[in-house]
Amino acid sequence: MVTAAHRMMPPMEYVRLHDEAAGLDGVIAIHSTARGPAAGGCRLWTYPDANAAMVDAFRLAEGMSYKNAMAELPFGGGKAVLRKPEGKFDRRALFEAFGAAIEKLDGRYVTAEDVGTSVADMEFVANKTRHVAGRTSRPGFAGGDPSPWTALGVFEAMKAAVQFRFGSGLSGVTVAVQGVGNVGGDLCRRLHEAGARLILADIDAERCTALAREFDADVASIDDIAQADADVFAPCALGGALNEKSVASLKAGLVCGAANNQLAEPGIAKTLLERGIAYAPDYVVNAGGIINVSAEYLGESVEDVRTRTMKIGPRTAGILEEAARDNLPPSVVADRMAERLMSRPIADVA
Ligand code: NAD
Repeated sequence: MVTAAHRMMPPMEYVRLHDEAAGLDGVIAIHSTARGPAAGGCRLWTYPDANAAMVDAFRLAEGMSYKNAMAELPFGGGKAVLRKPEGKFDRRALFEAFGAAIEKLDGRYVTAEDVGTSVADMEFVANKTRHVAGRTSRPGFAGGDPSPWTALGVFEAMKAAVQFRFGSGLSGVTVAVQGVGNVGGDLCRRLHEAGARLILADIDAERCTALAREFDADVASIDDIAQADADVFAPCALGGALNEKSVASLKAGLVCGAANNQLAEPGIAKTLLERGIAYAPDYVVNAGGIINVSAEYLGESVEDVRTRTMKIGPRTAGILEEAARDNLPPSVVADRMAERLMSRPIADVA
């Protein structure tokens, strides 16, 4: 999540994690518990030093507060960042030590997967604490892979945003998808079924070609996808897809995709506005996954996940309409809305 200057920043609470024998070295950052326990995944990544890991954890924890509040979940925002040990290491020992640290927080932080961690890791965490989601799913209950839910939310958001921007349905609209992995691939399937024309790009050329064949799509190079002749640009790879260079040559009139942190820096939102490009804010659009994780933790059903995920479409439309009315970047409108939700008790906002 990009930290915008207008964002409120309560003092960040954090716990340093260190257990040399288990290979545990990292931090749990708790940005907000105003709406409930701080929820956000656990990232296992290589960082040059402990400070770099801490900076990343703070930034990500703040982002989770906004995302969870916007999705109207009873959770605040937090994140764990663990430094990946060099060479071979014992994942069980590491994640059990991490689980023990979470247990000491007595439910103030709830973890799940993020970059570099898996369902198997969360099962190790669960040996030491119940404050963990993203585990193996049980029939009828929410759980399992969050990607299809993320894709559904992005699809619903795009439907609403296309209606707002072009006054049409998805049929006949051209969408350039950057990154056709777990979320991007499922989004392509939904878009193809809805009659959209697709242009795909991925560094995994083999997967990209196979999906292009399946969905009768064109393929662009990873350098050209942002400038493709499309109505919609859907960043579904890594963060930072929207920078001064890519936005200057963007042909699409709408950006709506799954990737986190799409704005390389907050000022890009204004550039998009000046160019007349509608931007559906990333954390509003891609909340389907955390909705699924939240429901798993609370023991809710698959239907609960569907109902909440389907709200992403109307929510996106509302933000785009308010932004257009007030001539503001949609990301600013979204942040203000999330901050309002963070500052009120759940009962007032349900
Ligand atoms: P993934 O790893 O399955 O897919 C990402 C794809 O992007 C891969 O196929 C990769 O080869 C491709 N890629 C990487 N760099 C690229 C580039 N420069 N150009 C084109 N393609 C490139 O990941 P995912 O789970 O599908 O997540 C995609 C994005 O959505 C990420 O930013 C992630 O943080 C975000 N997100 C995912 C979820 C979820 O439920 N999985 C939830 C919220 C947000």
